[in-house]
Amino acid sequence: MALEIRNLHVAVEGEDILKGVSLVVERGTKHALMGPNGSGKSTLSYSLMGHPNYLVTEGDILLDGTSLLGMPPDERARAGLFLAMQYPVAVSGVSLYSFLHAATSAVRGYGDQSDTATRGRFNAHMMPMREFRKEVNDELDLLKIDPIFLRRYLNEGFSGGEKKRAEILQMAMLQPRYAILDETDSGLDIDALRIVSEGVNTLQRELNIGLLLITHYQRILNYIHPDVVHIFVDGRIVKTGDFELVEILEEQGYEWVRQELVGGQK
Ligand code: ADP
Ligand code: MG
Repeated sequence: MALEIRNLHVAVEGEDILKGVSLVVERGTKHALMGPNGSGKSTLSYSLMGHPNYLVTEGDILLDGTSLLGMPPDERARAGLFLAMQYPVAVSGVSLYSFLHAATSAVRGYGDQSDTATRGRFNAHMMPMREFRKEVNDELDLLKIDPIFLRRYLNEGFSGGEKKRAEILQMAMLQPRYAILDETDSGLDIDALRIVSEGVNTLQRELNIGLLLITHYQRILNYIHPDVVHIFVDGRIVKTGDFELVEILEEQGYEWVRQELVGGQK
């Protein structure tokens, strides 16, 4: 049981950004992916989720043995994949509550329109309100979010930290088997970082999630301790190791990896 990325090449607007990424994230394990700005980390996360602008030119992505290529994002979500975006999108006029209700209903199969007896009847395709409300309240407690927050329009005027909490709240409701967290630590102050990290750890344990944590900094990894660490440079993974890699990076920066790569080519 794993999220398996095989020799993935991805082009964006005609330019090759991912140049052969291979990575296996087993169910229940935590992987950190660290790399400089512009190296293609977010491109990888969008490509995994099936964003239409990201063209897979070679390779494959398998979820528990089934290829995701050709599946639109909503189908990948139903298959058990989740992405917490680096830059969550604001949607005016849709409250966080309504959005979560719709997304949770769709991912858990309530949104299935194939049943002709109920097709077109909105409520027949939504998770029952009372059940949803109870669950969402439990998750608000876990992430220490004020319930008032649910009434606000999705990500509109949210602070950086509030957007990240809303993303993890969404993860809690969608209950994925594999999750990609793209710089979830950015914008979080020290207290929020601890609360969000503890929430992620609880969910990861309870749901046995395979986690791919994209980050620049060691600090979140002190809370969510990765089993495996990968260094990502120029569209590919160039080094894989244990937590020690994080400490070397923190001390020496990415220049160290670049030097070593150049050295290795001589
Ligand atoms: P990272 O997340 O590692 O900072 P990104 O994946 O965001 O890097 O970006 C990698 C490269 O791909 C950058 O050079 C960026 O300009 C380019 N890129 C990403 N998305 C797009 C896009 N939608 N259109 C054009 N270029 C893009
Ligand atoms: Mg990024």
